[in-house]
Amino acid sequence: MKFHILTLFPEMVQQGLATSILGRAAEKNLISIDAVNIRDYTQDKHGKVDDYTYGGGAGMLMQAQPVYDAYRSVAGEKKIRCVYLTPQGEPFTQKKAKELSGEEELVLLCGHYEGIDERVLEEVVTDYISIGDYVLTGGELAAMVVVDAVARLVPGVLNNDESAETESFHNDLLEYPQYSRPEDWHGKKVPEVLLSGNHKKISAWRREQSERRTEERRPDLYAKYQEKQRVIKKLSA
Ligand code: SAM
Repeated sequence: MKFHILTLFPEMVQQGLATSILGRAAEKNLISIDAVNIRDYTQDKHGKVDDYTYGGGAGMLMQAQPVYDAYRSVAGEKKIRCVYLTPQGEPFTQKKAKELSGEEELVLLCGHYEGIDERVLEEVVTDYISIGDYVLTGGELAAMVVVDAVARLVPGVLNNDESAETESFHNDLLEYPQYSRPEDWHGKKVPEVLLSGNHKKISAWRREQSERRTEERRPDLYAKYQEKQRVIKKLSA
């Protein structure tokens, strides 16, 4: 899968996404991440990419022309799915990450300052995504969050496909608690059942822990889970 990140700060996203699992995935050509510097596409002779907003108000706005030309440099005459990272977007979820991981190519557009001229957004953007109800200085961190969550769902990126299956948000549950060696640390023992070798019992324990944790930490998610369980029960009755 190819990710193209349109940004005024390419070094930020390049460095941030070049290590660990994503770095290895890029080496294996499972994904590629290229950062396109929007400033390279300005027609302003001083390299300016922003200007005052019509109607007044504090702050500068990124202009349409450099953003449009940066997008065209990647897409040519094609239309590639383009995500604008914005606090005004739909909240980003694992479900959305899964959906985007089915694309062959994805453009991620990072705003800065007060954001981007609405007219170019209308022409190139297909999805508006927010990573939370707070305002960042720029879209770069948000783009990195989206690329990370999407790229790890591309087949082959994670060593073990199972790990995405049992993780948090699968089936509207959070993952169960996990333990590694030693068996006893600071007087806290690994739950007996995990040492039993009885896979049926381990599965049941994990399911119960997932349910309990989701109920405690994410009652909104737990309500969704319970509702789905009710429907499944009804259908199988
Ligand atoms: N004036 C804009 C508003 O009130 O909606 C906020 C602009 S913000 C200071 C600058 C850029 O940061 C945005 O264009 C967007 O790309 C990015 N950004 C800020 N908060 C974000 C969030 N919660 N999720 C995704 N991107 C965000």
